[in-house]
Amino acid sequence: MQNNVLSAEKEMELINRHSTVKLTPEKVFCFTVTLCDNEIDRDFERFTVDALKKLSVLFIGKTGISDHSMRSKDQMARIFHTYLEADPAKKNTLGEAYVALKARAYMLRTEENNSLISEIEGGIKKEVSISCSVNESTCSLCSGDMKTHSCKHIKGRSYNGKLCYAVLNEPTDAYEWSFVAVPAQRNAGVTKSYIKKEDIFLETPIEIIKSMTADTVLSDAEIKSIRSYVSQLEALAEDARIYKSNLIEDIERLALILMPKVNFKSFISSCGNLSAKELKELRNGLDAQAKEKFPMTPQLRSVSPKEKTHNNTSFKI
Ligand SMILES: [Zn+2]
Repeated sequence: MQNNVLSAEKEMELINRHSTVKLTPEKVFCFTVTLCDNEIDRDFERFTVDALKKLSVLFIGKTGISDHSMRSKDQMARIFHTYLEADPAKKNTLGEAYVALKARAYMLRTEENNSLISEIEGGIKKEVSISCSVNESTCSLCSGDMKTHSCKHIKGRSYNGKLCYAVLNEPTDAYEWSFVAVPAQRNAGVTKSYIKKEDIFLETPIEIIKSMTADTVLSDAEIKSIRSYVSQLEALAEDARIYKSNLIEDIERLALILMPKVNFKSFISSCGNLSAKELKELRNGLDAQAKEKFPMTPQLRSVSPKEKTHNNTSFKI
């Protein structure tokens, strides 16, 4: 593990590597944040210690913000040192020694930053969310590549008492970090982006929905995928509704041709309860009969608007 205790002089030396003007200790406020750890996070993903080591290098020099209104250069904090910290007294969910990636960051002691500095000192601003990209995401149960659907395990579900989660390795880049507005999330929030964003779905939306229980936690990506699937279903349902209504119109027309003296009003109005398959069978049956009885019956679906209007009118009370 890297040494986390640096002398004040060493810290100033590291800080000044990132500053264009020479900063003195009075001008800067330094603090420590936990960027991420080797615990299974709320997306059921976990960094390996090796990944944390790689991230520790990638996060050097990365800027952090308190909220999105703070975009001024002077209001940003910057990481100047990172280290892994193992807590021998603490174990992660898997029973392994807990390891966190910690960062030392500095910000300028300006009037604008006073309230944020007080909040950090007072422990109000504590948790941060990070954003990084990861090249490797493998299944904790079978080591299958979770980005290419190579296994059927689903993150967050248990198989024979064993939790499935994604093992994140090979981080390729670290981006911005920020203080989280709403604390009490499980450890630090980690926003991970992948090289191939379209590959992050592990299963089809219908599989997600079918295997959901009261305890299921969905990722943002999964929620988006389900929403988009529901929209597709809605469009399909509309197509099916139009198809059924066309079949009912055919049935109505053929019934009138075959049995002009019978009032089909209530029969037709109950046709909507039949499935498309049943309606199709009925329509085909009536059509065959009509062709037998009147060999000159025009082709189906060539009802002229005039004829249609006439038929509809005949059913009005
Ligand atoms: Zn698997």
